[in-house]
Amino acid sequence: MSQAGLRVQVKGIVQGVGFRPFVYNLAQRLDLRGWVRNTSGGVELEVSGEADALQQMLQALREEAPPLAQIDSINAADHSPNGFTGFEIRHSQAMPGAFQPVSADLSICPDCLDDVRDPASRYYRYPFVNCTNCGPRFTIIRDLPYDRPLTTLADFAMCPDCSAEYQDPANRRYHAQPVSCPECGPHIWALVGRESIENQELALTCIRQLVAKGEVVAIKGLGGFHLACDASNPIAVNLLRTRKRRPDKPLAVMMPDVETVRRYCELSQAEEAELISNRRPILLLRKRPDTQIAEEVAPNQTTLGVMLPYTPLHYLLLEPASGIPEVWVMTSGNRSEEPIITENQKALDQLGEIASAFLLHNRPIQTRMDDSVMRVEVSSQTLSPIRRSRGYAPTPLRLAWQTRPILATGAELKNAFCLTREGYAFLSQHIGDLQNYETLQAFEEAIAHQEHLFRIHPELIAHDLHPDYLSTRYALERSEREGTPLVGVQHHHAHIVACMAENGLAADERVIGFSFDGSGYGSDGAIWGGEVLEAGYADFERAFHLQYVPLLGGDRAVREPWRMAFSWLNQIGYQWDQVFSDSQHVDSLAVLRHQVETGINAPLTSSVGRLFDAVAALSGLRGEVSYEGQAAIELENRVDTEETGAYPFAVNEHVFSAEPTLLAIMEDLSAKIPVGRIAARFHSGLADLVLRLAETMNERSGLTKVALSGGVWQNMTLLSAARRRLQNGGFTVLTHHKVPANDGGIALGQATVAHHRIHMEG
Ligand code: ZN
Ligand code: ZN
Ligand code: FE
Repeated sequence: MSQAGLRVQVKGIVQGVGFRPFVYNLAQRLDLRGWVRNTSGGVELEVSGEADALQQMLQALREEAPPLAQIDSINAADHSPNGFTGFEIRHSQAMPGAFQPVSADLSICPDCLDDVRDPASRYYRYPFVNCTNCGPRFTIIRDLPYDRPLTTLADFAMCPDCSAEYQDPANRRYHAQPVSCPECGPHIWALVGRESIENQELALTCIRQLVAKGEVVAIKGLGGFHLACDASNPIAVNLLRTRKRRPDKPLAVMMPDVETVRRYCELSQAEEAELISNRRPILLLRKRPDTQIAEEVAPNQTTLGVMLPYTPLHYLLLEPASGIPEVWVMTSGNRSEEPIITENQKALDQLGEIASAFLLHNRPIQTRMDDSVMRVEVSSQTLSPIRRSRGYAPTPLRLAWQTRPILATGAELKNAFCLTREGYAFLSQHIGDLQNYETLQAFEEAIAHQEHLFRIHPELIAHDLHPDYLSTRYALERSEREGTPLVGVQHHHAHIVACMAENGLAADERVIGFSFDGSGYGSDGAIWGGEVLEAGYADFERAFHLQYVPLLGGDRAVREPWRMAFSWLNQIGYQWDQVFSDSQHVDSLAVLRHQVETGINAPLTSSVGRLFDAVAALSGLRGEVSYEGQAAIELENRVDTEETGAYPFAVNEHVFSAEPTLLAIMEDLSAKIPVGRIAARFHSGLADLVLRLAETMNERSGLTKVALSGGVWQNMTLLSAARRRLQNGGFTVLTHHKVPANDGGIALGQATVAHHRIHMEG
């Protein structure tokens, strides 16, 4: 038999997922000789053996790869047969400039959970157990290649038992970098007032009992701190809300297992699959009526954000026992609007007034990581991301083209940035609202860390057109400092392009884009948000937009939807005080009238998000909000599904008008039509409008693909209704499944526009 040799490069997520032992075992099976090693570019192997066996190996590399591996490419080149007599796993080799996608953090696997629950295991009740198939990754990585000395476990020397498992290719912990045990690894302790409880079991018991008593506790987790309390205790939940200054925004809960989730929420197959996946997101599920969850957890919501335990520590904390609450509120441990806290001392300093006790550990967190928030769209049973973070980031998105290195700095709210390289886009984890120093600092640190980790030196910086976004200012300053060219990208174009890119559209494709949004800076200086674009990757034409009305008081109108109601009423010739007898806003009315007349502090807006606000306020649902989108969410939650009517919109050459809509709403209000029916008619009217505009666009341009992006499309009622109408009308509907429709996905669009614009210029 003829002997041959191969040198093979494997790229993708192939480190920290058991790839080398897999190759080792494959080599044993096929009687191959040579070696395998990690490089900072992936995994490399050199093998010799029979030609047939080499072909079988190449096939098996793809077909039998370990479950967590994600292979992007396998390149094999002939190589003269080596003189090895066996097969070995070699030390990692750093390749300057090359890069290696990093695995996201994954929930504990069933095998490790068995270890935690097995009194005979040396990992029995150990809060940090992990293996090649599970555990922390991105949050502990300081640098690449992914080896223990370059992780936050560097200071924990392995004990002989751990070391033996680490070095045994047949063991599931072979080269599991964070491997550790009670002998040699990190540990937990509790802090209650001045008292420190060092014993693990006493610490756990203490924290569990405090939660049972209605206290708020702070728990150090995987990517940062959580604040926790008993979700069935309204007093405890209110205590947390008051102390955290978070009056209404829904809080996530953790439940011990799927069976428990089913008792509290409706759960479809697709939802269950995502909930139990090793990404373990917070999933928005429909609440069952009459559950034990305090209404205060998610006031005025039909859904509840639920996650399962994802670390061994969570399993120990939520272990079912009598007297211990079954469902825990688990919300990010931060002061309102600031980034989630990752350091023990900072938590003690900043959460001391919120939490009455702390559960701490000594495994450092390198990268801050919030829990992801996802939902499954009922009509299509597909994933719809709301916040893409732990479990998803930094897994790169594959692009349909090779891109130059670009940094896109994202928007202001729900910021995530994006770095691109070769065929990849690395959309960052959720950074937060770039409205304070702490978040800006977190943003800058995360950019520096990821540029280093992925070996990306941006040749272009893409940014939003809004001059006051801190992300824009960062882009401008950095461009000035480093001489990197800038590409300004219109907000709603970026939304639509993000949707096109994640759906893999080719470079020359064009779509009809409905960018319905809260607000974004328009090319004409107005505040856009109801945009119908004919869009390609590099450019767009604004085909239609919602008619402009004044945004009375600027940003104040976002917090006070009744101002938008005033603005729209004025537009249709109604006087506020003729409609509302309440005296609540009486003092402001003269100011608002002045703003309407003069345009002072009343920029024009075409925002559909603000139209939702106006309708919610007119319907008496909410005149003021404590978080963005609250009024629209509450309007959606009131939709009466039996209602079949729809309000009309008017459409002219380039503008669609909500005046007929508002006139009809005012008639319905005076006829005392219930809010649920008004809400339903508004949603249906908007969905009808989308189809009508798409048909007009199709007549003009022949385009048949429709992309739906922007924060308003998080409204599942509207999304489902529009999808149904468009599909029945013969359109292909593109929506978001990988990145959020809200501003958390916009950086992907910015980077894509920048690439294609420069590419076209040559
Ligand atoms: Zn495991
Ligand atoms: Zn050990
Ligand atoms: Fe937006």
